[in-house]
Amino acid sequence: MTAPRLLIIGPQGSGKGTQGERIAQTYGIPAVSTGDVFRANVKEGTPLGLQVKAIIDAGDLVPDELTSAIVRDRLAQDDAAGGFLLDGYPRNLGQVGDLDAFLDGRDEPLTAVIELSVPRDESIQRLSLRAAEQGRADDNEESIAKRLSIYESETAPILDVYRERGVVDAVDGVGTLDEVFERIVVALTARGIAPSA
Ligand code: AMP
Repeated sequence: MTAPRLLIIGPQGSGKGTQGERIAQTYGIPAVSTGDVFRANVKEGTPLGLQVKAIIDAGDLVPDELTSAIVRDRLAQDDAAGGFLLDGYPRNLGQVGDLDAFLDGRDEPLTAVIELSVPRDESIQRLSLRAAEQGRADDNEESIAKRLSIYESETAPILDVYRERGVVDAVDGVGTLDEVFERIVVALTARGIAPSA
């Protein structure tokens, strides 16, 4: 059996947060979402939250050094020893290098990268809906446009790196939650990654 050391990647509004939670539950691993960590800190008004709030609201990326340190600390915790699901990290080539340095040191590379594809129009539509439902400060028109453009210019290129390593599974993100989740399970099963009992 292959350990579930997973990354889910897709444009904002692709549903990766929701699918990530489900994967984590089904495979018995923690979901590590950098976006969630930052939002929780902003909400609590911690020093980290105060440091990143303006960056997040504008739709820019938090500096790599800060983000990578948070992920390293989280992955070093006991509950991530058997596997984990990364959501929203790494997000650029610098962060891929940081993550490699950490995982190579443990001889524990990522075993699958799930690429959730959703057409740009549909992403924007879903984000506008989420803005109305959840009132996220960064779900305004300007920030959405910036985040999608950063995704295309900085995040999508990291897929080439992982493709070369043969770990990417492209999954169609259009459909019901159950349909998309089923596609993910099929892809992981083909890699010998099985749900926890
Ligand atoms: P998300 O919920 O993944 O869309 O993240 C929300 C916001 O948090 C992003 O727009 C960034 O400002 C910040 N953020 C989340 N993950 C990262 C990351 N890996 N690197 C830099 N900034 C991030």
